[in-house]
Amino acid sequence: IVTIAMLMGVVALRHIRLQSREIQAHRAEAHADALTGLANRRAFDKELSRRLAQRQRQGTPLCLLIIDIDNFKSFNDEFGHLVGDAILKGVAKIVESTARQMDIVARLGGDEFAVLVPDSDLETASHAAERIRSAISDNPSQWKGDEYALTVSIGLTEAQLDDDPASLIKRSDSALYAAKEAGRNCAFRQGYPEPAVPIPCGCLHGSTA
Ligand code: GH3
Ligand code: MG
Repeated sequence: IVTIAMLMGVVALRHIRLQSREIQAHRAEAHADALTGLANRRAFDKELSRRLAQRQRQGTPLCLLIIDIDNFKSFNDEFGHLVGDAILKGVAKIVESTARQMDIVARLGGDEFAVLVPDSDLETASHAAERIRSAISDNPSQWKGDEYALTVSIGLTEAQLDDDPASLIKRSDSALYAAKEAGRNCAFRQGYPEPAVPIPCGCLHGSTA
């Protein structure tokens, strides 16, 4: 009886372990973007609320970059969705490897990405935005032996004491809109309450911020 009870215990333990691994895998899946493997919109929203609350409590700066691929619809029309998907993955990789480890990189949907930059003021995050913009424009994506040149536009803002997630996203979006209006392949930052202004290109390359 003791042996049988022990065997049953071992089987039950294995079953529990298997189930908890499955639950963990499902959880990870629910938070990951299926195409790029980055955090998805749901995970991003959660993290944004958490980081913003932390910023309001502790006063440590927090910035938000929104990145959108330029003319991606025409790119898809010209080369097809399969190439488009590969390029989205390539852009995701560049953004992730250019951001710092502590930054949170997410795909918000479509051709739009976000980077939450903790412990950084507008000036420091401007360097990050310019690094990402130039990394993408300087590194054409490869697919099946061919190279595809793409650019992105970026909008950036810094969280203020009275911000909630929606107002922070709205300000980054306005800066992104200004970057698109200015001709694309550039980054704009939105002060508070100042209007969006361009982040200088080129001169910031090689910065270690
Ligand atoms: P803009 O410079 O103003 O951003 O122009 P745009 O053409 O990039 O316009 P917009 O950002 O509105 O278009 C997004 C396009 O992204 C539309 C769609 O063709 C493409 N897209 C969205 N999701 C996917 C996807 O999962 N795979 C691929 N291949 N394309 C996608
Ligand atoms: Mg776009």
